[in-house]
Amino acid sequence: MLLKGKTALVTGSTSGIGLGIALTLARQGANIVLNGFGDHEGPKAEVAKLGVKVGYHGADMSKTAEIEAMMAYIEAEFGGCDVLVNNAGIQHVAPVESFPAERWDAIIAINLSSAFHTTRLALPGMKKRGWGRVLNIASVHGLVASAQKSAYVAAKHGIVGFTKAVALESATSGVTVNAICPGWVLTPLVQKQVDARAAADGVDDAEAKRRLLAEKQPSLQFTTPEQLGELAVFLCSDAASNIQGQAWALDGGWTAQ
Ligand code: NAD
Repeated sequence: MLLKGKTALVTGSTSGIGLGIALTLARQGANIVLNGFGDHEGPKAEVAKLGVKVGYHGADMSKTAEIEAMMAYIEAEFGGCDVLVNNAGIQHVAPVESFPAERWDAIIAINLSSAFHTTRLALPGMKKRGWGRVLNIASVHGLVASAQKSAYVAAKHGIVGFTKAVALESATSGVTVNAICPGWVLTPLVQKQVDARAAADGVDDAEAKRRLLAEKQPSLQFTTPEQLGELAVFLCSDAASNIQGQAWALDGGWTAQ
């Protein structure tokens, strides 16, 4: 029960990686604030089963005023945010010449700027209490690029840089700031890319997954939300208190190539 009495906000946690991390933090006793679109009653019930306090705020992470309202809600209902997991993210795949400007703006807002807003609002409380953890869910695309993902790669490289800058500003405060960089994780975000691959290559779902992995991820296995959750728990532990500004890949060897 490493995180008993602490409160964790996980943005974009109604699905995929965010929900996996929220459940893993809850298993360590953290109270959880969920955020994201779609059904939230199901995820809320799953977390509540673990015996922790759970809240939900539906802030659209592309809207500054809604993020501010969410952070005020956490302050009022939970007494502040001790563990901030900036996870909400979207993807759009297209060559830069035909990349819709509106998708570029949305990706930069949700995948990058939202973390600036949650962090600037959560840090003062963390510093006052002398303990905090900021975990930015970046990507291997925060370290290397892939074609057709210019906005995503720009946002994810941006969040790795943001992680380093805020880590330096927090270095003596008891707050650590790190990024986690997953390779392929089989979530709704990636299933869309599997479907596109199956359609483009005229193959079934299993073969499309195999081809997607074979191209980039030498382990030929998807990273799981549970593995990412366990890395998040480690980064919250005392053993990790001197890890600052790092970008940790959990990518089956993708970035070792
Ligand atoms: P997902 O589509 O399963 O989940 C995304 C979550 O973000 C959902 O809860 C969704 O409702 C929420 N969300 C989307 N737009 C939002 C908005 N405007 N406001 C609030 N919430 C919003 O995706 P995922 O694969 O779990 O991705 C989570 C994070 O992990 C993203 O930042 C993604 O870039 C990153 N990531 C994913 C992979 C992967 O292979 N799946 C790899 C590396 C990094």
